[in-house]
Amino acid sequence: MNLLGDFNLLRPTSLDEAVKALSGEGAQPIAGGTDLLPNLRRGLSKPKLLVDLSALDHCSDIVALPDGTVRIGALVTLEALVDSPLIPEAVKQAALGVAGPTHRAQGTLGGNLCQDTRCVFYNQSDWWREGNGFCLKYQGDKCHVVAKSDRCYATYHGDIAPALMVLEARAEIVGPEGSRRILLAELFREKGDDHLTLSPGEILLAISLPAMKGWNAAYEKARVREAIEFPLAGVAVALKREKGRIAGLRVAITGANSAPLMVPVDELVGQEWGDAVAETLGKQVRKTANVLKSTITGAKYRRRMLLALARKLASQLWIKAA
Ligand code: FAD
Ligand code: SF4
Repeated sequence: MNLLGDFNLLRPTSLDEAVKALSGEGAQPIAGGTDLLPNLRRGLSKPKLLVDLSALDHCSDIVALPDGTVRIGALVTLEALVDSPLIPEAVKQAALGVAGPTHRAQGTLGGNLCQDTRCVFYNQSDWWREGNGFCLKYQGDKCHVVAKSDRCYATYHGDIAPALMVLEARAEIVGPEGSRRILLAELFREKGDDHLTLSPGEILLAISLPAMKGWNAAYEKARVREAIEFPLAGVAVALKREKGRIAGLRVAITGANSAPLMVPVDELVGQEWGDAVAETLGKQVRKTANVLKSTITGAKYRRRMLLALARKLASQLWIKAA
């Protein structure tokens, strides 16, 4: 047995082969491995088979389609995302904020979106977790964050999902039943130990971004250090301004709940940006976010940062659009 556990490794060259392999019990995909391998080292799961997606065709390209849609393969690295002239600024900001340069050279978009949720009581060594009686998410029967809870509240800390969600991204998924397209937001659910809506055997193949004429978008995260740090709070905003009014507004948050979430802000469309609108935006962010003690940083600080970042980004985009 090695440090990562005992498993077989398969590197399929066709989608059919990959889907078939992933449909078996105990199989898990691996892309860049920057999220999965540290988790395996900590004994956080014991897959029987790792299916390495890196040899699959047509998953590593960024292509502009005739209708203006940009299709990004799931195996595109974060470094390539940042370097591409086809990628919107908000997505580049989010990708550039992920970890450090070596992680971005290795980590992929698909792996970033599908990364596991995190918790200060879970992302620890085997002996640390054992000393604390493990927890509901894996090997234990109680939650240390919400006592007496029957569900896991581990937090989703991916940076790129909210930036894509405010740009109306769609996810292309392939699996044993064929392929399907969903809104990226529908890839996630609020369940810390099972936060993806993928069925066994399904793989995220690509993300499509529609052309959004007249919109500006931005992403910003709060973190303790300026590099190699997951978002303690992350906010993406897309705004369209027309004739001195908000013609469109989309806000998404990460680092707060078990999934990246859209904040309902439709009631602000048609209004002029100002203190009252900023206040309502803050209220909606507060209502959506369920920040708990799942990181070493206090929940109050993270909640405040979500509100501050949402207001700041919306205000900046409003001014930029003038
Ligand atoms: P992998 O590790 O290969 O996979 C991650 C998960 O996704 C696995 O469960 C895997 O089974 C699944 N998966 C991979 N590809 C697919 C697919 N196509 N379809 C279905 N499932 C798939 N992330 C951030 O967002 N922000 C950060 O600031 C950040 N900081 C980090 C700091 C450190 C020190 C480390 C170790 C990691 C950090 N990460 C961060 C997490 C990770 O590095 C990135 O999210 C990276 O983009 C993951 O991509 P990957 O290809 O390496 O994923
Ligand atoms: Fe475990 Fe609770 Fe943390 Fe989930 S939220 S990982 S169940 S301690």
